[in-house]
Amino acid sequence: MQTQELMALCEEAERLGATEAKVIDVSSVVVEPWVQLKCRFGCPQYGKSKTCPPFAPTYEETRKILGCYSQAILIEGQPPGRDFKEMLLRLEGEATRAGYHKAFVMGAGPCPLCAPAGGGPGVCPEEGPCLIPEKARPAMEACGIDVFQTIRNNGFTVSFLEEKGEYVKYFGLLLLD
Ligand code: SF4
Repeated sequence: MQTQELMALCEEAERLGATEAKVIDVSSVVVEPWVQLKCRFGCPQYGKSKTCPPFAPTYEETRKILGCYSQAILIEGQPPGRDFKEMLLRLEGEATRAGYHKAFVMGAGPCPLCAPAGGGPGVCPEEGPCLIPEKARPAMEACGIDVFQTIRNNGFTVSFLEEKGEYVKYFGLLLLD
């Protein structure tokens, strides 16, 4: 993908509400086995969301998948999750329409698309497949990506929340080739 086209996608992300979007080298994305341990032990969505472990790609699969891509855009946004997810899907669609047929986006947190009116994680069916498979995408961490280290590697700042209501950052990753 040409630099100009990547920059246009970053600008589009910011026009759609991203705080910042940055072209990154895929080699700066860190994938570690311990990340999915955190999903398995400690996350209430484990086994519930169709985009989370054990349904998401394993960290080994993610390493192989990243090897299929040469470039990526890291996108910083804010809650609520459903708006952020829709924005990421629009960017993936724009990249695909521009001819980048391998474009694939990863989001943050459990899929929010089938969330109740008040928000929160989506409620996936206990049995059977995802209700909106054309829009379901896994979160970076669900695929074993160390999000904190990846965003630090690329000059974004991050800190843990101390007070209720503090600003929360969400990150998405658009893979391109
Ligand atoms: S689209 Fe709905 S059913 Fe599918 S993963 Fe997201 S919340 Fe679950």
